[in-house]
Amino acid sequence: MNRRRRIYEGKAKIIFEGPETGTYIQFFKDDTTAFNARKHAVIEGKGVLNNRISEYIFSRLERIGIPTHFIKRLNMREQLIHAVEIIPLEVVVRNVAAGSLAKRFGLEEGMPLPHTVVEFYYKKDSLNDPMVSEEHILAFGWATPQELEEIMAHAVRINDFLSGLFLGAGIQLVDFKMEFGRMWENDMMQVVLADEISPDSARLWDMQTGNKLDKDRFRQDLGGLVEAYQEVARRLGILNENETPRLKRPVLVK
Ligand code: UDP
Repeated sequence: MNRRRRIYEGKAKIIFEGPETGTYIQFFKDDTTAFNARKHAVIEGKGVLNNRISEYIFSRLERIGIPTHFIKRLNMREQLIHAVEIIPLEVVVRNVAAGSLAKRFGLEEGMPLPHTVVEFYYKKDSLNDPMVSEEHILAFGWATPQELEEIMAHAVRINDFLSGLFLGAGIQLVDFKMEFGRMWENDMMQVVLADEISPDSARLWDMQTGNKLDKDRFRQDLGGLVEAYQEVARRLGILNENETPRLKRPVLVK
């Protein structure tokens, strides 16, 4: 039996070579990390939920004309995606003060921001993903001015669309992180949304109760992470009421 070639392994996903040239397979692991992997656990069922939630979000975005790497979901844990060259930036969009923004500026968590804020972080674990400005991005050539312009336009549109989508499910989209990639078709290059959008990479608060339905449950030891992700999936209408992934207690590895 042949083993598939592993292109890249990250903290929560593995990228394998795809069945055809120009395709990859994105595999969602149950590994959950925070604080640049200083905290780690394997939470059974998380990968399955993120695969479904991200599939739903990417498909909806495709339908409004946002280009993405997503082709189709293959099974419980895998998606077929276009092979892209990842632009080494984490693009964070914020609507409400939380996390590192609240900490950095001494803001009360939950304060609506007067203006949507877009931030860039340089994707480099060994440097702890430092925050960077557009000047840094251009000076170091991580993206061209045209690419940055496209990223900004997509980011704002994705935020508006997803804010409405989650609002309809009684969920407030507080902030989220995106990654973009370069996709080549012959000699034409297009900037497309890549990676995933899921409760691992977004802050999602229940509009009624303020309950956190995202990875902050793990970061802050609140428990009930899989149940919260299931709730998001259920509210988006992508998880059948009777469909509950088998649950085991989280195992703290480190
Ligand atoms: N985020 C992420 N990966 C990262 C850093 C942040 O997905 O490596 C997401 C995070 O889940 C949140 C948003 O980006 O939805 C903003 O995160 P923040 O800067 O507040 O950092 P954190 O509090 O996660 O350290």
